[in-house]
Parts: sequence; C-alpha cells; structure tokens
Amino acid sequence: MAKKTKAKKKTARPIKVTPPTAAQADSLALLKQLSEAVAVSGDEGAVRKIIREAVTNLADEVSVDAMGNLFAIKHAASSRAPRVLVTAHLDEIGFMIVGEGKDGLHSFEAVGGIDDRILLGKPLWVGENKINGVIGFKPIHLVKQNERSTVVKIDSLKVDVGANRTVKAGDRATFATPFVDLGFTVRGKALDDRAGCAVLVEILRGKYPVELIAAFTVQEEVGLRGAKVAGYTAEPDAAIVIDCTPANDLPSQDDEVENSHYNTKLGHGPAIYSFDRGTVSDKRLIKHLAATAESKRIPYQHRQPGGGGTDAGAIHLTRGGVPSVSVSVPGRYLHSPAALMSKDDFYNTAKLVRVALESWSPKVLKR
Ligand SMILES: [Zn+2]
Repeated sequence: MAKKTKAKKKTARPIKVTPPTAAQADSLALLKQLSEAVAVSGDEGAVRKIIREAVTNLADEVSVDAMGNLFAIKHAASSRAPRVLVTAHLDEIGFMIVGEGKDGLHSFEAVGGIDDRILLGKPLWVGENKINGVIGFKPIHLVKQNERSTVVKIDSLKVDVGANRTVKAGDRATFATPFVDLGFTVRGKALDDRAGCAVLVEILRGKYPVELIAAFTVQEEVGLRGAKVAGYTAEPDAAIVIDCTPANDLPSQDDEVENSHYNTKLGHGPAIYSFDRGTVSDKRLIKHLAATAESKRIPYQHRQPGGGGTDAGAIHLTRGGVPSVSVSVPGRYLHSPAALMSKDDFYNTAKLVRVALESWSPKVLKR
C-alpha cells in the first residue's frame, strides 16, 4: 500500500459574513419581494400593494392619492412639530408593449432610461402575471460582419412571448431577474428604487419628534411626476429623498490604480447628495446627515456632484420651496437586468435616516 503523503493544501480563507439581525433579515426578505414584482412607471400597483400591507401596522394613517402615491404618516406628539417628508419611488424602468403582432411577437418601447446595447436576448416578465418573454434577435450564425459593430435600436426589435395570447398593447414588462443574496451583496432588478422603498418601510418602525410623512411615489423614472404632487400635498418643512444611485466604481482603462471617475463606491455607506442635475441639496440638511453619521459612527460618503437626479428635483420646488436632500444606497449596473448592492450600505442607509430623524430639532433648519 502506498504511503499517504500529507501535502499541506493551501485553501482560501472563507470570508465571514456577519449574520443579519432579525430586523435586517425581514428587510431583506421585503426587498426580495419588491425587487421581483413588476411595477413599471404608471403601473405601480403590484409594489404599492406589497408596501401597503407592510406599513399598515407601522403608521397612524395610510392613504393613496389620485396619482397613485402611497402615503404613510406617523404623527408627532406635538401639533407644532416640524413636518418631514421622506420619500422613495415605487416605479422602475422597463418596457411597454405598443404593437400587438402575430405569433406572439410584439413591438415595444422603453419606459425610462434604458441603453439599447443591453437589450438583445434578454428574458422579460410581461404584465402583472409575469408572462415569460424574450427580446428576439438574430443569432450570431447569421449576423454579417458589418452588423457586429452596430447597436440594434429598440424600434427594430420584438418581444417574443411564444404562443401566449394574453399579452396586449399597454402591458408593461421588466427584465426577468430573480433576486439573489450573494453574501456581502445582493443582486436583482429594480434595486433602484426598491432598496429605497424597503429602507423607508424600515424607517417607519421608529418613533420621532417630527410629523413623519412617508411617501412612496409613482412615475419617478419618467420625470418625477408623482413627487411633484406628493410634495405639494405633504406641505413639508423639509424633505429627505431615498434612492439608489449608480456606483460606477469599477476600474476603467485610464485608471492605473483605482477608478477616479466613480460616482459612489459600493460598501462605503449611504451616499449624501450635494447637487445633481435637478437639485442643489440644502446645506443644513447635508450637515445634519453627515454630523449624525459621524456621531453614531455610521459609514457614509458624499456622492460626486453632477448628473442624475431624484424626486428631490420636483419636491424642493413645490409651494414656497422645500429644503431637500437626497440619500442613496449605491448600486452597480442600475437600469439593467441585474444591479448589485452592498447589504451593509442598505442597512446603514436606514440607520442613518432613522437616527437623523430621531435627533431632529429646530436647530437643524436654523440659518
Ligand atoms: Zn431611482
């Protein structure tokens, strides 16, 4: 019998993931449900229903307005307490069937910002019943050399739902992406802004010295339309908008060491906005959030100023003006079939806003 040699095998040390608390596990389970629901702008019912159920026992008042915005209000003990509006948007980017074709092949359009380069061959969920479809395309065997370097535009493509006959014009569709827990991160569609929605539900679990008006808004991805109305109705003294912002933190070709063109970085905490295309954040609110994070040792980052925008773009211009700030969970590959987000960033965004509301005083808005 051959002698067994004990060769020392080099094994990679497993990375330890801290087990979630019960509240964090609940929050993640809600996020999975929200991420897998189909709720493209203007057709947010499926997500609104899930959130309505989740907030009914957490808020003093729950209502839906004419636009479809869902409000959940937690009253302050004093009627003179400041009114703080905290929002997250219900809708997601996706598609709308625009022409019913023969044999289950339908023409479609994008709802919200989607890059034509990511469309070919992607599986879709069509309509509330999540009929399985695929964006049809010519297989590589038949693609001519000169076609390989051109982007196929959406108007020349079709959604193929096979023999299904229930799909009709006006139906919405999303990428068909199951939500997956990857340990440190999660992957799923529509984390923009289902992450914000789950964070806002978590915020409703707290007790605050302010009149808290939580608004889950509709139609953000097509021009902040729900927020325009929600901001007016809420008549707030200040607003905090919770969204999911592109991380864009991967190394690029012109970076030797690290990406110097990042917007935010995954795992570096909630991102506080200073300004974007639609809003200049209120300096007092930026200061309050940053000071809160520092005093409670919650990691945070400042989002790089520039492009993009949130519901704050509409809210800060309602009535006589509303001091506003946005806070986002950073997410890679937004507006695509699969976005990636750090679980710690997600938990810390809820923690930061909760503590900021708990410690709210008239000093926050003092000039
Ligand atoms: Zn968003």
